[in-house]
Amino acid sequence: MIEILTIGDELISGKTLDENAHYIAAALHAQGFIISRITSVGDGIENICRALRDRLPDTRFMVITGGLGPTDDDRTAQAAAKAFGTSCVLHPDALSAMERAYAALGRTMPEAARKQALLPQGSILIPNPVGTACGFCITHDGVEFIFLPGVPEEVRAMTEGFVINHVRTISGSPGYVLTKQLTLFGLWESGIKERLTGRLPDSTIVTVGYYPQFPDVTISITGRGLDVDLVRHEVEQYEAVIMQYLGPYVYATTGERLEEIVGRLLLERTATLAVAESCTGGLITHRLTNVPGSSAYLERAYIVYSNRAKHELLAVPEDLIERYGAVSEQVARSMAIGARGYARTTYGLAVTGIAGPSGGNAEKPVGTVFVGIASDKGCEVVRYRFSGSREKIKIITAHTALNALRLLLLTGTIPQHTATGI
Ligand code: ATP
Ligand code: MG
Repeated sequence: MIEILTIGDELISGKTLDENAHYIAAALHAQGFIISRITSVGDGIENICRALRDRLPDTRFMVITGGLGPTDDDRTAQAAAKAFGTSCVLHPDALSAMERAYAALGRTMPEAARKQALLPQGSILIPNPVGTACGFCITHDGVEFIFLPGVPEEVRAMTEGFVINHVRTISGSPGYVLTKQLTLFGLWESGIKERLTGRLPDSTIVTVGYYPQFPDVTISITGRGLDVDLVRHEVEQYEAVIMQYLGPYVYATTGERLEEIVGRLLLERTATLAVAESCTGGLITHRLTNVPGSSAYLERAYIVYSNRAKHELLAVPEDLIERYGAVSEQVARSMAIGARGYARTTYGLAVTGIAGPSGGNAEKPVGTVFVGIASDKGCEVVRYRFSGSREKIKIITAHTALNALRLLLLTGTIPQHTATGI
């Protein structure tokens, strides 16, 4: 079992998000190791000491980050010496490694940096390929303590370059690990639970995790064991059951984003796209253009926020807007057809909706959204009803529009069930 301890006042005051724990945990977890606890403490020497002593009973490794710098608030080495009942001594190899790192940068090592070569007695150095301060490890009381600097870039390099191998060498391989990730849209966790209850087989090898990342939910299936074939077989069995009950909601099995999938499908069909956005204010286009190479299929986008813009840029008839309202099936259709026509593209994708918090009424409450897609086969429009904050409605609308286009590209139509309310 592995614990992670991150040190820094900025972490416990909420100023800095704990990237290091996140990264180390993911890197070790992906190798099949089990992380039993993540702790953060401030820079106080007593706090660090206590955190180093207070371990869970089955902890075999503790990976610690932060507080190895030259400044007065960097006290991790001193705290470690105190916690392990030893003292800090000058580590000549650490000193020469630092001198080399400074020389490589074309600088002479400042006097204050010498402090970083004072390490608890018995420490073994960990090279730092991207910074000047070394890390160190020390064995105490049957636990391997691995100390890394705080800078996330250095932590990443040292985890890849040292920590994973070190843990493997000492503890042996945890066996074979296989993870499959299914990304779903259109169902929340409760809907997923309802559909899967009693359906998944029992297994001592496979665990399933549900991770909502608005507006998606990722289902992660992880198999662990020494028998590669058995692990693979059980993970595939779980995946098949999940696909059987949730298949229409799963849009990716490889971590691909919706805009990447849409882009790939358009490319495969040598099709082009024009977008007309009202309530999303450009969000759909932003996401589409985040994909490198999107110029091959995205011809243009119209941000038509006002009625005048809808009329002037897309020839949406003024009396249509007056009669049915800017948020209506008729206007969404006219926008999609207008965008496709002016841009001379294969598809025209349009959204119009009420993001709120005001502007709704009994007939069209806040969260009412119309998505229209025009093609050579005509124009399909689907009405949705979302709820939540203005920003959430924008996000889920953009997601829904991209998903609608994906489904239309795959099946020739937009199924009505494509998104639930928030
Ligand atoms: P330095 O030599 O830069 O002082 P250090 O090993 O003493 O390095 P810290 O002083 O603790 O490390 O942190 C250095 C920088 O890295 C700071 O900007 C800090 O906010 C950031 N940092 C430290 N720990 C974390 C963490 N767990 N997650 C994200 N950023 C972190
Ligand atoms: Mg520091």
